[in-house]
Amino acid sequence: MSAIENSKLAIIGAGAVGTSLAYAALIRQSAREVVLYDINKPKVEAEVLDLAHGTQFTGASCVSGGADLDAIAGSNMVVITAGARQHPGQSRLDMSAVNVGILRELMPKLVERAPDAVFMIVTNPCDIVTYAALHFSGLPSTRVFGSGTVLDSSRLRWLLAHRVGVAIANVHADIIGEHGDSEFPLWSQARVGPISLSEWVKDDISPASDDRAQFSEAEFAAITKDVKTAAYRVIAGKGATNYAIGLSGARIVEAVLRDEGAILPVSSLLTDYRGISRVALSVPAVVNAGGVSRVIEVPFSDAEQELFKHSADTLRATLDTLRLP
Ligand code: NAD
Repeated sequence: MSAIENSKLAIIGAGAVGTSLAYAALIRQSAREVVLYDINKPKVEAEVLDLAHGTQFTGASCVSGGADLDAIAGSNMVVITAGARQHPGQSRLDMSAVNVGILRELMPKLVERAPDAVFMIVTNPCDIVTYAALHFSGLPSTRVFGSGTVLDSSRLRWLLAHRVGVAIANVHADIIGEHGDSEFPLWSQARVGPISLSEWVKDDISPASDDRAQFSEAEFAAITKDVKTAAYRVIAGKGATNYAIGLSGARIVEAVLRDEGAILPVSSLLTDYRGISRVALSVPAVVNAGGVSRVIEVPFSDAEQELFKHSADTLRATLDTLRLP
C-alpha cells in the first residue's frame, strides 16, 4: 500500500452531511478530485456549482458531479451519506429498514463503477448500514467500514479538553461500540498527555483537601450523557448535524488516501473480538489505503466489557430483524 496520487473521492448523497463533507475535503485538500452524486438532480447540480465557485480558495482540489452515477467511475474512495436523516426524537436504529433498502440497491452499482475503492458508510444507523453494505457488496471486510464513533470521540475530546484546560490534540479518549444510544467512553484507557485521566488532579488543591482527583464517577457519568445526547440536541435546534461529521469524515478519508495507518474508532466487521462476532461496531482500528487493516485489542475493565457486549447485542438484534445473517 502507498499514498494515492491524484486521488478521487466520491460522495454519495448531497444533503447536509454529504455537502459538508465535500466542503471540508476541499478545504483540507483531502483528495485531488471530489465527485458528488445524488438522485435529486437540481439539488446536487446546485451544490456542485456552489462548491466549485469557491475552489479558487481551496488549492488544487476540484469538484464535479450530478445525478449520473457513472461520474464516480474509478474512485479510490466512496463515502456514502445517502438516505433518510434522523428526525427530532427518533433514534438512529429507527431508520434501519429504509436506509438498508437504499444500500441494497446502491452497493452493487457503486462496486461495479469503483471496483477497487475503499467504501465508508456515514448513513445511519451507521453500524447496521455498514454491516448491510458489506453484505451487499461482496467485498472483503477490510474495504467496507463505517465512520463509527470518530465523531462521538471528537465530541468527548472537546468536552474533556475544555474541562481540563489543555489542547484537544493532547486528549486521547475514545467512544466505542454502537454509533448510537449504547455507545460508551473507554474511560479505562483515556489519557491527557502522558497521564491517565483518572490520575489527572485539580490544579487548585488546598493543603487541607484530600480531594485531588479532578473527575468523580458522577462527572464521568455526566460527560458520557452529554456526548450520547449531543446529536439529539443539535438536531432539535437545527434539524441535522453536518459540520462536525463533515470534518470527521474528511479526516478518515485522509487516513485512507494518504495511507496513514491512523488509529481511529471506525466501525468494522468484528470476528471474535473480545468474544464478539457478526456485528460491525467501533473499536480503535488502523486505517490505511486498504481500509481497516486491523482492529486493536484494547484492554477493557469488566464494566466496559459488559457495555461492549450490550452494544453488540443491541446491534445483532436489529440485524436479526432485518434478516441480515
Ligand atoms: P439529507 O436528507 O440532508 O440528505 C440525504 C440525501 O440523500 C438527499 O439529498 C437525498 O436526495 C439523497 N438520497 C436519498 N436516496 C438516495 C439514493 N438512492 N442515491 C443517492 N442519493 C440519495 O440528510 P443528511 O442530514 O445529509 O444525513 C444523511 C445521513 O447521514 C443520515 O442517515 C444521517 O442520519 C447520517 N448522519 C450520520 C452521521 C454519523 O456520524 N455517522 C452524522 C450525521 C448524519
